[in-house]
Amino acid sequence: MNTAADFTKYKMSHLSWTQYRERLKIAPLVILPVGALEQHGPHLPMACDALLAEAIALRLAANINGLVMPPLSYGYKSQERSGGGQCFPGTTSLDGITLIHTLRDILRELFRHGAMHILVLNGHVENQWFLTEGIDLALREITQSQPVNRVSRCEYWNYTPQNVLERIFDGPFPGVDLEHAALIETSMMLALYPHLVDTSAFPEDMLADFPAHDTYPQKGDGVPVSGVLAPLSSASADKGWLLINSTVECLAAAFKPE
Ligand code: ZN
Ligand code: MN
Repeated sequence: MNTAADFTKYKMSHLSWTQYRERLKIAPLVILPVGALEQHGPHLPMACDALLAEAIALRLAANINGLVMPPLSYGYKSQERSGGGQCFPGTTSLDGITLIHTLRDILRELFRHGAMHILVLNGHVENQWFLTEGIDLALREITQSQPVNRVSRCEYWNYTPQNVLERIFDGPFPGVDLEHAALIETSMMLALYPHLVDTSAFPEDMLADFPAHDTYPQKGDGVPVSGVLAPLSSASADKGWLLINSTVECLAAAFKPE
């Protein structure tokens, strides 16, 4: 399935409330993509994490007849060792408490609509525990008389098969830690949004070398000036499609209706 596919009918925000009410009765899963507005090197747009999470959510929804909410396009503060940190112009982040309460409020509304299973599909490393907290606070409010709602949270890359990663990296996968704006994200963006990737601005390949601790206030020590933390010169749209399709396939297997 490529970018030309029409995902309109899976977008909750493009439905009328009456259409939504009917679809909700048969849609087994409502997916909320979550990203960030954050520097992604000189070659990728800053909405990268939200764009990728939404694209994967739409393909998953098309696969299992789910529904996709508009993405949450702001996330928790960028950390130096996973996203380059807060020293870059453009990176626009939320306090943890804001993200927690934003997710709690959205989930509360989805429960009221009658959504029975919600998947929070995360595309930004730093969001993880704040999303978990938002889910916990929302579930805590459910009363005995309400139907039992389930909320799942996952980082989409955890559903990318290991053998695909080994093919992409032509050897052992070094891990997601330094993959910020690097081979994986650049390949997927080349596949999905080639017009948003500036291939002439690819920075020279280098691997960030950080200590195993964080120091605050952030000063950007050890963060490459490009904001990219790992090599990306072998990125390609073909690799991107392989990553996207295999990840969606595994997500669909995990979230197919019972
Ligand atoms: Zn990213
Ligand atoms: Mn990120």
